[in-house]
Amino acid sequence: MLPTQSKGQSGSKSGHERSREERMECSVSVVLNESDPRMESSGKSSVAEMVVLATSSALTAVFYSIYRSRAKAATRLKEAKKVSIDQDLKAILSETPGRCIPYAVIEGLVRSVKDTLNSQFVDDCKGVIERLTLKEEKMVNSTEKVIHQRTNTVPFALGSYDENISTTVRVMRPLDAAELDLETTYENFHPTNQSLFNFVSQFISGEQPKGIHELEEMLRLGDSVTGVGELVLDNDLIKLQPPKQGFCYFLTRQNYEFLLRKQVNAGKVWRILSYVFGLAACTTLLYMLWKWYVRCRESKKRRRVMEEFKEQQKRLMRELQIEESSVLPTSCVVCLSRERSLVFLECGHVCACGPCHKALPEPKKCPICRVTIDRVVPLYNS
Ligand SMILES: [Zn+2]
Ligand SMILES: [Zn+2]
Repeated sequence: MLPTQSKGQSGSKSGHERSREERMECSVSVVLNESDPRMESSGKSSVAEMVVLATSSALTAVFYSIYRSRAKAATRLKEAKKVSIDQDLKAILSETPGRCIPYAVIEGLVRSVKDTLNSQFVDDCKGVIERLTLKEEKMVNSTEKVIHQRTNTVPFALGSYDENISTTVRVMRPLDAAELDLETTYENFHPTNQSLFNFVSQFISGEQPKGIHELEEMLRLGDSVTGVGELVLDNDLIKLQPPKQGFCYFLTRQNYEFLLRKQVNAGKVWRILSYVFGLAACTTLLYMLWKWYVRCRESKKRRRVMEEFKEQQKRLMRELQIEESSVLPTSCVVCLSRERSLVFLECGHVCACGPCHKALPEPKKCPICRVTIDRVVPLYNS
């Protein structure tokens, strides 16, 4: 009934009046939109959240894959066959299919095959691997830079702890092995003698060498070594060599239990890191979903309140038998007669006159958005 009536009225309205009414609608909706000044800042923060989400997800994937490969390496190491160096090792290998154990653990003492290397600094110190390193130590954060490194090797084998057993296992490509820790046999430090020119030029470049660090490390004859790799009988020679793809070649002066523990612990660190970053990614995602849900709920609520307000306005106009066209855009939305003269805070709506505000039931709520009114500021039109 009303819509047709109002349509008929608005049809008879002058262009000037209609534009005034439109302005009134606009002013209300503008005020409503203005009540959400977080729009822009929320856009910026969501970009930051996306970056955090992407970075933490990527790091989780990387750390988890490292953890998986470490865990797999540790499991394979745990399942590797323990072989002792004794007289019947050759017989065991010749009966094995392919004369080969794909992943075996052996422990023994370093024995020379033909030649040995002598330490260049220590008398009567013989070995099979010798690594010489020159490092430059800097004054700046006491960093070290390797300026020269050379590793010498001679063929060597692992023999039994029992001297009566002559069986030995030849170690192939020892430098390919992980965890190869050598014994430091010599260490010296040569401080740089600073000329004034050097001092000034290095001061300007920010790099001040403190001195040269000279280091000799060796794998010595008689050292106890654990080797993990492929054990193969080649003609009459037992060889320990890098295993097939996916298996890790180990050569270390530590025992097998220590090596295994170290690998398992290294895996744990990566697992913890992947859990931490995974948790960060999940939290960020949940936070973003929650924010999105809250935004949807708020905008739905705003729309509903606005519709209810319009309905209420129409009802009021019917009750007071006022034509929509006769209501000024600046009229109080409650009495529809007096001028709006107050600003309600915190919502910011300018929609009512003083007497109507006084007549509002306690606790006083904004007639448009129904947010509780904390403060009222009078409006002075000039
Ligand atoms: Zn009023
Ligand atoms: Zn309000």
